[in-house]
Amino acid sequence: MARRESADLVVVGAGTVGGWASWFAATSGARRVVVLERDLAGQGASSRAAGIVRAQGGTPATVALGRFSIDFYRKQQALLGTDSGFRELGYVILSVTARDAAEARVRVAMQRKAGLDVRLVDAGAACRLNPSLARRGHRGGSYCPTDGAIDPPRNVRAYGLAMLQAGVVLRERTAFLGLRTAPAGDGRRRVTGVVTAGGVIATERVILTGGPTLRALGKLVGARIFAGGARHQVAVTEPHPAFDVARQPMVFDVGAGIYWRLEEGGLLWGMSNPKETPGPARVVDWPYLRRMEKRLNALVPATRGLGLRRAWAATIDYTPDHLPILGPVITTDGVTIEGTTVASAGGHGMMWGPGVARVAADLALAGRSRLIDTRDLGMDRFDAEGRSPFFDPIALPFPPSADLD
Ligand SMILES: Cc1cc2nc3c(=O)[nH]c(=O)nc-3n(C[C@H](O)[C@H](O)[C@H](O)COP(=O)(O)OP(=O)(O)OC[C@H]3O[C@@H](n4cnc5c(N)ncnc54)[C@H](O)[C@@H]3O)c2cc1C
Repeated sequence: MARRESADLVVVGAGTVGGWASWFAATSGARRVVVLERDLAGQGASSRAAGIVRAQGGTPATVALGRFSIDFYRKQQALLGTDSGFRELGYVILSVTARDAAEARVRVAMQRKAGLDVRLVDAGAACRLNPSLARRGHRGGSYCPTDGAIDPPRNVRAYGLAMLQAGVVLRERTAFLGLRTAPAGDGRRRVTGVVTAGGVIATERVILTGGPTLRALGKLVGARIFAGGARHQVAVTEPHPAFDVARQPMVFDVGAGIYWRLEEGGLLWGMSNPKETPGPARVVDWPYLRRMEKRLNALVPATRGLGLRRAWAATIDYTPDHLPILGPVITTDGVTIEGTTVASAGGHGMMWGPGVARVAADLALAGRSRLIDTRDLGMDRFDAEGRSPFFDPIALPFPPSADLD
């Protein structure tokens, strides 16, 4: 017989966003928090990421999400007795063209106003910070010393342990199938329960995550969520003395869409192909990877001729404007479902995950968050084609919104 149960809050998806959101909610007063995971915790994008964490966002809200997340990663040992493996490395976001340099000036002014320790560096200063960086082919860029990287599998372990400590109920291999709702006046509806593969759970609060599969989850609740999935590739080089150092700033070549950081004496670098049709992908596109490797070789001469220790491809989440989605479900008929919160980190779940999770828990429990103003981050910012009036320019060049089915 189907199980009948109730919860203060049901979270769908045990990736980094759902995992940390359940912990924030459980430690902020929610009594019974149930997390539904159709597979195993962390088996979505969260365990396959490159781990880059930056507060150098392109809008005040993404700077705030990054700063919160870094602060949280630093505090984890004291709070939880475990951690996500955050290492402060610093991060140079390269300016290649004169336009990049002009945009960096405006961006750094905005970020400094938002309280971030970030500064412009010319090409010489960038090379002094990161001696493996070529002297030619860029104009320096912006540098934030407090950005860094986490270890994604360790992060899955950390939120798993944190959930256990906080008494969160994790239901693995239990798929979310849909919502139960009731009228709430003014043409709105409110959530009364969730339908799962194991029965119905009565609840007035639901957080919907799903990373690269969030769009499919939206269809289960009658909503068109503008979040997609696309191939993302990561490779790790063999060790080289140039990378056998304790600290060296990470680098992001935004225009080319590649970034890199230290990894076990070698270099980890990642990329997405904006010309590729979106969709799930776990096969490495070697021709594209080799093309991007040439770009890396030009900017980091020590990588020339270095073999690869490993390379992988996985599906990364993205939103058309590169911003998170945080707000209630709005169905294709325009009906808002009260008590629901959609939470997507838009492909930035390592750098913004804890921040997005904090805000999702706040919205679910209190209807608003002190961390950021979410009025411009809801589903209603997109038109019928997925176009948004907003944009975060510091992101990988993902496929355009029109490619979302
Ligand atoms: C190769 C790669 C490299 C990346 N590198 C970085 C990086 O360096 N920095 C960065 O910030 N971000 C990076 N990302 C992005 C980051 O990993 C994601 O933004 C983040 O993991 C998303 O977390 P999530 O919890 O939203 O989604 P996920 O981790 O995908 O979790 C969603 C969960 O929902 C579950 N689910 C789906 N449907 C259902 C259902 N019907 N019922 C129950 N459960 C369901 C899934 O099984 C999954 O476990 C990278 C991603 C990839 C793929």
